[in-house]
Amino acid sequence: MKSNYDIVIAGGGMVGASLALALAQVFDDGLDILVVESVPLPPRGELSYQPSFDARSTALAAGSREIYAGLGVWEVLAQQACPIDSIHVSTRGRPGSTLMRASDEALPALGYVVENQWLGRVLLDQLQRYQRLHWCAPATVRGVSMLTDARCRVELEQDGDSAETCCDLLVIADGAYSALAGSLGIGYRQNDYGHQAIIANVGTAQPHNGRAYERFTDQGPMALLPLQASTATSRSALVWTMPDALAAATAALDDEAFLEQLQERFGHRLGAFTKLGQRHSYPLQLVEAVEQVRSGVVVMGNAAHFLHPVAGQGFNLALRDVANLVEVLRGAHGAGRRFGELSVLQSYHQAQAWDQRATTLFSDRVSDVFTWSQPLVAVARDLGLSALDVVMPAKSWFLRQAAGLGGRSVSWSRRGG
Ligand SMILES: Cc1cc2nc3c(=O)[nH]c(=O)nc-3n(C[C@H](O)[C@H](O)[C@H](O)COP(=O)(O)OP(=O)(O)OC[C@H]3O[C@@H](n4cnc5c(N)ncnc54)[C@H](O)[C@@H]3O)c2cc1C
Repeated sequence: MKSNYDIVIAGGGMVGASLALALAQVFDDGLDILVVESVPLPPRGELSYQPSFDARSTALAAGSREIYAGLGVWEVLAQQACPIDSIHVSTRGRPGSTLMRASDEALPALGYVVENQWLGRVLLDQLQRYQRLHWCAPATVRGVSMLTDARCRVELEQDGDSAETCCDLLVIADGAYSALAGSLGIGYRQNDYGHQAIIANVGTAQPHNGRAYERFTDQGPMALLPLQASTATSRSALVWTMPDALAAATAALDDEAFLEQLQERFGHRLGAFTKLGQRHSYPLQLVEAVEQVRSGVVVMGNAAHFLHPVAGQGFNLALRDVANLVEVLRGAHGAGRRFGELSVLQSYHQAQAWDQRATTLFSDRVSDVFTWSQPLVAVARDLGLSALDVVMPAKSWFLRQAAGLGGRSVSWSRRGG
């Protein structure tokens, strides 16, 4: 390990790895970058379980596709990505539903569903091509201290040994409730939804034909995202949210009873549920760091904002943050400014503030509105869904938000690209 890096990234999950790739690409491997990740790097080409690249799937918005295309990895990612041609939104036991089609907005797809393990494999394979990008894993960032010239000293632990290095910019991307941000005195605003998301891949008797389903029930919203078929069976990724106590009971059901419950809640739009993969549960909270930038430090990804997953926005927002940060850093570099300068980092944060606010509100309110069961709210919501189906500007807004096209567009590409 070197004694000094341009940029150190604490956390090599979906956000840390995407940022490392963007920096290495956009700066033509011209920066010394260190990524410190607690989980070992899998052998090249191997799929493996890792907290970020785990059994979940991610709905990548059309905007995220553009970002990965700009980084030259979309072609490989697309090999295992299922395009979302339409989204069906409904409420269990209530009238009113809406169908949004990619063709309504003249888009090739509303998004693309990628299994996190595939995303991880593609990103990690790609990262190993860069000479000046050093991946330090398994290792943990234990502490950070500021030096007088606004640079950071980063303390690591690897194989029981301590080490330290310095950097111009430390990116904290170590996940929700970041211990590192906490150690710098950065607080969090939080709202516990009292819900969990149970995720699993399911097989269905009828093909999904590229359709995603968002279904709101009195217990919480559920989503079924179309996956690329690996066998003759049509597969979808289930995200089923429900109150904590019910989630514990549902998680304890055997596979047959679980599928029966699911069928009862979801209905028969895809025929019978025929197969069930591994199940995992995630507690749902809205967690926002009260500060995202300081001299020499930027907080990103789940460490900056951890959103309700029902609208599929958390990672897409984080990826737009990544793209804008890299753009700001490229501008600063060209102007001979230091990466860790507070005004540089503030300009990134100001540029993304509106997108972060709008996306957080959208994710929070969508889950909220559809969970309320008071009669007046329920009627307004049903009318809203029906109205959405006929009022084109409202539908178009909702659809563009869902497709991740509501935020500030990111138009960078590789140097010379
Ligand atoms: C059920 C569910 C479904 C979702 N679906 C979608 C979706 O469809 N679309 C979407 O846009 N978003 C979705 N999201 C959100 C998305 O998963 C997150 O935005 C994403 O995981 C954020 O990644 P991250 O790298 O910031 O954090 P994490 O995934 O938490 O990764 C943090 C990494 O840091 C490492 N680490 C932790 N501490 C240290 C340390 N001290 N030193 C070194 N390394 C450390 C960890 O090992 C880990 O690899 C979903 C979330 C959930 C829960």
